[in-house]
Amino acid sequence: MAKEYQNFINGKPVPARSGKRYENRNPADRDDLIGTFPSSGAEDVADAVAAAKAAYPEWRSLPSQARGDIMRRTTEMLVEHKEEIARTMTREMGKILKETRGDTQEGIDTGFYAAGESRRLWGTVAPSELRNKMTYVTRQPMGVWGLICPWNFPMAIPSWKIFPCLTCGNTAVIKPATLTPATVAEFARILQAAGLPDGVLNVVYGSGAKVGEALLNCPDVCGISFTGSCEVGRHIAEVTGKELKRCSLELGGKNAQFVLSDADLDLALEGVLWGAFGTTGQRCTATSRLIVEAGVYDKLLEMIVERARKLKVGNGLDETVEMGPLVSDTQRNTVNGYVEIGKKEGARLVLGGEALTGGAYDKGFFYKPTVFGDVTPDMRIAKEEIFGPVLSVIKVKDFEEGIRVLNSTRYGLSSAIYTKNVDRAMKAVELIESGIVYVNAPTIGAECHMPFGGVKDTGNGHREGGWTAYEIFSELKTVYIDYSGGLQRAQIDNA
Ligand code: NAD
Repeated sequence: MAKEYQNFINGKPVPARSGKRYENRNPADRDDLIGTFPSSGAEDVADAVAAAKAAYPEWRSLPSQARGDIMRRTTEMLVEHKEEIARTMTREMGKILKETRGDTQEGIDTGFYAAGESRRLWGTVAPSELRNKMTYVTRQPMGVWGLICPWNFPMAIPSWKIFPCLTCGNTAVIKPATLTPATVAEFARILQAAGLPDGVLNVVYGSGAKVGEALLNCPDVCGISFTGSCEVGRHIAEVTGKELKRCSLELGGKNAQFVLSDADLDLALEGVLWGAFGTTGQRCTATSRLIVEAGVYDKLLEMIVERARKLKVGNGLDETVEMGPLVSDTQRNTVNGYVEIGKKEGARLVLGGEALTGGAYDKGFFYKPTVFGDVTPDMRIAKEEIFGPVLSVIKVKDFEEGIRVLNSTRYGLSSAIYTKNVDRAMKAVELIESGIVYVNAPTIGAECHMPFGGVKDTGNGHREGGWTAYEIFSELKTVYIDYSGGLQRAQIDNA
């Protein structure tokens, strides 16, 4: 009997008012039903926002360290439950256990970081321009936040939002992705068990069109933290812009690994395999383009094909599997559509390029690791986010052309350069247009205490992760204290 999950509002399980539900199934095995979830609507969001609003005055008045203690206890419980969370995540998202353990670990790291940050919500003290007067800046919570998540990091991304948002003294309503709702259900249960007061975090399941839209348009929501596609992000920016709500956007990527002729090719090979086929290519930081200097192009391409063809694809619950399925049939169709586009555009398909079928594969959405050679920068497969196990390999004549090609995309999330030449590495770090740059390491591998985000169409200037997330979820208050006993007029009495 499949588990019946409910929304989590004011600390209680609550069905959608419509009574409607949807199924959450394993993308590696459609016979595996993880549970059913409420298909919520605007009225459920209104209930959740009301609960968050009611909980806000008491929560914001707690010392931040007391909030941090709850984050620490939550994180200790996440450590205890790490394995079962990872298994649920593999079942609902499809990525292999090694990666879902990593995803859970990222949540754990982010939680312990939040517990520490609760003691460091510092401001700045500055000298006043007048005598007997001081001035300082302090951080204030803001109110009720709407947190909207994608499906590819079911624990890490909610944790990037929940921990700093609540630690800063806000309350929140979270909308998990419809494809991966069970992991957040477990997260919310643990927060409650760790002592989070009712109403501080509420979870509402359902579609972007209904639950997401209702959050954007709710007047009692002060800000939206969104991670997802550029298309939806642009819409969210428009709505929140009109309403003057704060809005932080972490959007798509078309990340490149650039390999120079002097690079350690074995290292570059390991990097690109992990970057392109880890999480079945469904990471915002996935290596979607490989740019290679002409001198080593043929050799590296051959090495990649040789290794990628041996990757073991299957159900991520099997510890020997190296790449899981795509998250849904829609995603597989999108990936296949791009493969067809690549072939029509004249790229050379050197590996894969089709669904994996037959036997147990027929129960899931499997796709072969795919490599295109002779891709040119103007092709759509070199420019658009595919979000699947498809690598586009581009040959360039030298460093300058490589950097030009690397930057010739509307996205700017993560890039990697492989070289042994320190001058070239430093120059690349300077010239690359992306929020994250790796030297001799793949495009994936962010650490929780460092700012995470991108430039150009990848976002709107905010950075989740690290201390910068705390800037998103708090408001500055500037304070002046005059202890002169008289009226002192700035810019007049001291001119
Ligand atoms: P998506 O944009 O389709 O959906 C993201 C979330 O937005 C989901 O919860 C969805 O239900 C909701 N949503 C959809 N329409 C909405 C609307 N009108 N109003 C409010 N909410 C709405 O993205 P996805 O397919 O879940 O995730 C894949 C995308 O996310 C990729 O583009 C990937 O690059 C991006 N991503 C970015 C980062 C990052 O940090 N930069 C991290 C992970 C994923």
